[in-house]
Amino acid sequence: MSGPIKDLSKLCIHTITTKPWSIEEAAEQYQKAGVKGISVWRNYLEGRNIVQTGEMLKNHGLKAVALVRGGFFPATTLGKRQLAITDNKKAVDEAAAVGAEMVVLVCGADPGQPLEVSRAQIQEGIEAVLPHAIENKVKLAIEPLHPMYADTRSAINTMAQANDMAEAINSDFVGVAADVYHLWWDPNLEAEIKRCGAHGNLLAFHICDWLSPTTDFLNDRGLMGEGCINIPLIRSWVEEAGFTGFNEVEIFSDRLWAGDQNEFLDKIVESYYHC
Ligand code: ZN
Repeated sequence: MSGPIKDLSKLCIHTITTKPWSIEEAAEQYQKAGVKGISVWRNYLEGRNIVQTGEMLKNHGLKAVALVRGGFFPATTLGKRQLAITDNKKAVDEAAAVGAEMVVLVCGADPGQPLEVSRAQIQEGIEAVLPHAIENKVKLAIEPLHPMYADTRSAINTMAQANDMAEAINSDFVGVAADVYHLWWDPNLEAEIKRCGAHGNLLAFHICDWLSPTTDFLNDRGLMGEGCINIPLIRSWVEEAGFTGFNEVEIFSDRLWAGDQNEFLDKIVESYYHC
């Protein structure tokens, strides 16, 4: 098992984590705090020149780790599925422009059809976007979501399902993003993380904590150490699987967004050291 984290060289923060800050303000504050990576949510790029924004991040010593998010492939109508493919190609363009190596996929689900149908449509969607991703050297990371989101957000709910799909598609440009919030409960997690690494498919590692009780199933995530997830243990599995990328802090929290974001950032760094 890994010991405590002693440096910040692998610390990445998702822009949504400090939701009230613009990407410019986030870049400035992350740099001051010693953060080295930033995962960019697409809404933070609105109205901006994306190439210049990517340069701005670099000038702040920040690696653009991922563009968040693409996906939402399933729909009961063909027209909507085609729109999703178009939008995902645009996400690939945005990732390439900002300098991010991957697009994280929240794969989607449509409650009007069985999960198996949604999963088949996810695979079709990824395969339709893949040539464009390869052309732009941008990877597509399937992020399994907690099953409480299986109605509308993702029909891929376990690491095993994400592994199955990544292996079925079998491309160097398709892999998996493992998020402790979505996966911590899974008794097969250790084995599935190892399987993912063995196939070279582990692209990303997201961290936060599961608060107990949780008051809101979208926007009540905790800082690392505030909840019940054994993050050091899961991190050790990820590292044993050969992952050497960033630890990406992705916290959605109405509670933490309501307070001073500089104090929140200090807490992120502090809790990162101890996770
Ligand atoms: Zn995540």
